[in-house]
Amino acid sequence: MHLRAEADNAGKSYRDLEHLFVLANLEFTLLHEFGHALIDDLQLPVFGMEEDAADRIAIIAMLGVRRFEPEQQMIPWLLAVATDWYTEWELRDRLRTGAAYWDNHRLEIQRFHNVVCLVYGSNPEVFDDLMDTRFLPFERAVNCEYEYKQAQRALRWASEQHGYKAGETPDADRVNVSYKTPNNALGKMLLGWVQSSGMVETRARQMATRFRFPRPISIDFENCGSSSDAYWHQPTATITVCYELLGHFLKMAKYPLNNPDRACQIPLVRVYLSERLGCPEEQSKTGEKMDNKTEQEVEQKTGR
Ligand SMILES: [Zn+2]
Repeated sequence: MHLRAEADNAGKSYRDLEHLFVLANLEFTLLHEFGHALIDDLQLPVFGMEEDAADRIAIIAMLGVRRFEPEQQMIPWLLAVATDWYTEWELRDRLRTGAAYWDNHRLEIQRFHNVVCLVYGSNPEVFDDLMDTRFLPFERAVNCEYEYKQAQRALRWASEQHGYKAGETPDADRVNVSYKTPNNALGKMLLGWVQSSGMVETRARQMATRFRFPRPISIDFENCGSSSDAYWHQPTATITVCYELLGHFLKMAKYPLNNPDRACQIPLVRVYLSERLGCPEEQSKTGEKMDNKTEQEVEQKTGR
């Protein structure tokens, strides 16, 4: 299957792409924060970094809730999340802000590769265009199906341990969503996108019926001033999403149009937008396979 063809079919106008980009990244963010809520409130065992675990929960949950959608609808949604991480990394590089190697979050470029790996691992046949490309070098790709199954098993275990038993009625209102009035026109427009999609309420209900949270959880959309963030606050069991973060996602979605020369070098942006941006032909090939490597060369790089 060719990802570019699927993405072109799905993206009827750039406005549609911006809309999809913002909502897809909001969905990922929400599910990531739910990951923190699950780890905290259900006391899930975590080996490794909690931020990695929250990213994995988000992608497995996204793939899970979208498993019945046609591929042409689901694929751009997932690639939008990967594209955001790649763009964030590109911008950091461009602005020379330096990488925070000490941070408890992985670098944006690592989060990009982790997302792509799990998406590929969920269905290597559907996503075979990603295999052995700059998106997903062979050395990583060979383990992605295993990584996906491992993460999926962990989330299934969590819902078996902490879900409702047969005959019990889940409390679908355990997760509550509220929206402050945005304090500017951009925030109001983005709130319109969010509310008309109904996505937040749907995900809130799905989480509430799948997991038995020991206390009510709130999702609050707020004005945060200079902070474009989202976070889980353990003492109040609240997931806060700043309208400024939605504005940031919109800026990331616009980045390719404002910087076509740079954007043409971003693999997943080309997948979506190569024709629109007028990227040179040799850069617009979806496959972009890695240089021919001997098996020995691959071998040497594996297993450390
Ligand atoms: Zn986090």
